[in-house]
Amino acid sequence: MRVLIVEDEPRLAENIARSLRESAGYAVDIAPDGEEGLFLMQSNSYDVVLLDLMLPLLDGKELLSRIRQAGQQTPVLVVTARDDKESVVALLNSGADDYLTKPFDLGELLARTKALVRRGKGQPSPVLIIGDIQLNTVNRTVTRAGKIVTLTAMEYRVLEYLAHRPRAVISKTELLEHLYDYNWEKFSNVIEVYISGLRRKLTDGSTGQFIQTIRGQGYILQD
Ligand code: CA
Repeated sequence: MRVLIVEDEPRLAENIARSLRESAGYAVDIAPDGEEGLFLMQSNSYDVVLLDLMLPLLDGKELLSRIRQAGQQTPVLVVTARDDKESVVALLNSGADDYLTKPFDLGELLARTKALVRRGKGQPSPVLIIGDIQLNTVNRTVTRAGKIVTLTAMEYRVLEYLAHRPRAVISKTELLEHLYDYNWEKFSNVIEVYISGLRRKLTDGSTGQFIQTIRGQGYILQD
């Protein structure tokens, strides 16, 4: 998953980014002002956006209304210093999906962020079940037929992304866009390496391929 944080306090942005990278395994981009945030949202695909309200150049509320008017459906969690009821109602009415008031607990931010990612993909439960595979997005563990499967951090990220949209064809480009932030160089062959690692670990040889390759299109997770 890939997250955009639009926040003009560098230390706060970095703290949130570190927490999302370490505790959720998300790729994270940071925009220090509203214009940069708008530009990044127009040029990348994010699974969720954390949006501060008081921002230089373009404020959070205006950014939100512009992206919603443009038809963008990315879930947005507004992080606000204002806690008056009226502005919260106005925000939810203008397209925010959830909000959190500063100062907040990082654990709560993480839980709300993950919940928005899931709901954005139509998966309300934090435990994703695909056949005999269970993927727990809270503690990032995977089991197959009740046995723990040990994955690398990147293998987990690939599987988590696929598992949020089972039976959909997901292209390599989409995986690259959602698993790396903009500081990474993107080589499409790395995805193949992770997919083959997942296949090796998730199948016991007797069963069919759990992750199928659709030639020229991408991958599909079957149950
Ligand atoms: Ca601010």
